[in-house]
Amino acid sequence: MSIIELIERKRDGGRLTPDEIRWIITEYTADRIPDYQMASLLMAVFKEGLDGTELAAWTDAMLHSGDTLDFSDLEAPKVDKHSTGGVGDKVSIPLGPMVAACGVAVPMMSGRGLGHTGGTLDKLETIPGFRTALDPPEFKAILEQTGLVLAGQSETLVPADRRIYALRDATGTVPSIPLIASSIMSKKLAEGLDALVLDVKSGRGAFMKDFDGARALAQTMVDIGRTYGTTVTAIITDMSQPLGREVGNANEMAESVEALKGGGPKDLLDVTFRLGEEMLLMVGAVADDAEARHRLEETITSGSAFEKLVEVAVAQGGDPAVLENTALLARAPEASVVPAPASGYLSRADALAIGVAATRLGAGREHKEDDIDPGVGITVMAKVGDPIERGEPLARVAWTDRGRLDRALTLLESAFAVSEEPVEPPKLIQGEVR
Ligand code: URA
Repeated sequence: MSIIELIERKRDGGRLTPDEIRWIITEYTADRIPDYQMASLLMAVFKEGLDGTELAAWTDAMLHSGDTLDFSDLEAPKVDKHSTGGVGDKVSIPLGPMVAACGVAVPMMSGRGLGHTGGTLDKLETIPGFRTALDPPEFKAILEQTGLVLAGQSETLVPADRRIYALRDATGTVPSIPLIASSIMSKKLAEGLDALVLDVKSGRGAFMKDFDGARALAQTMVDIGRTYGTTVTAIITDMSQPLGREVGNANEMAESVEALKGGGPKDLLDVTFRLGEEMLLMVGAVADDAEARHRLEETITSGSAFEKLVEVAVAQGGDPAVLENTALLARAPEASVVPAPASGYLSRADALAIGVAATRLGAGREHKEDDIDPGVGITVMAKVGDPIERGEPLARVAWTDRGRLDRALTLLESAFAVSEEPVEPPKLIQGEVR
């Protein structure tokens, strides 16, 4: 087959056959198609989309690009959650331990930062020593031992996604329904789950900027799940402003620990509990929403969810001292504030601008090979609708490099707006698709 011919066909609106798609994914994963040709094909897919047959073949080829996991001998029901990507979205870190502490197995395969959005793996790796690349036997052993595993795509697990994900991040090809759906569902189907809950983000800071786009993405993933016999529910949640207060890596880890210790911002807790309730209900671990809520709350008050995070961190090589005392996590040496330009009510805290500003600080990657700076980040001090006094800090910025700070501040200053009139906060939980 000729990759050039396939790129040209897709570019001109033609279709690729399942055999051609399998060939492309296999050859790219084996390094026999170079990044520049794959990037060109991804842009053609971004522009032209994939039809149902192409998407099924693309997802299946990614799913089978490496090993898949088989937990059928594990007694506990297995359920996971995945987000389509947001700013300040650290939900997986408190949620995984909370659900696992309820006796349900959570084999969680996450991603790194993508575009302006943060990645669970980058946040977890702020725990010194924490290993997110696990081979299948180790992945399974940790799941059996702790009921939870927090890992990423690797050379053996969904390697096609690991490579395509990094390439999309650097080539402007992220916000595409077929590329997001195949990326997420290939990882999730490789986990051998009984059920999956998706947090589909909608709004400026999401890849889907409006509710209709988010619903279409949700429906696409629910349909892929159905084809493979995996029950999938998608909850559509707001991403017009960041979730929680912290945007970065180590600071998001600290906020996740705070949530597991009974604190944390209300919006972060509301989304975490809603997704957790759905996870417990879907595998029949509870009878109804009220019981699910009660069981999840108990994991916080008893400390069992925090203990679960410590247990899994140790099992994956991490130093638990930073969880016991989050002041030990990386922290950038310098701090600046963004003051409110006027008094009134906060009418905008633009998640996209804040996410891009965090990337510019070094919390995300501007190039595929960049390392992230774990200690930089932004603390967003107010939520849309909050009363504001002129001059009060709307954001605190932790930074290490003056040039990067200047590039971030240009964006941050326009990320916020204050209105004289009271402002209705956006609805946090907007809908669901089953
Ligand atoms: N999360 C993923 O795993 N993949 C995407 O493409 C977007 C969010």
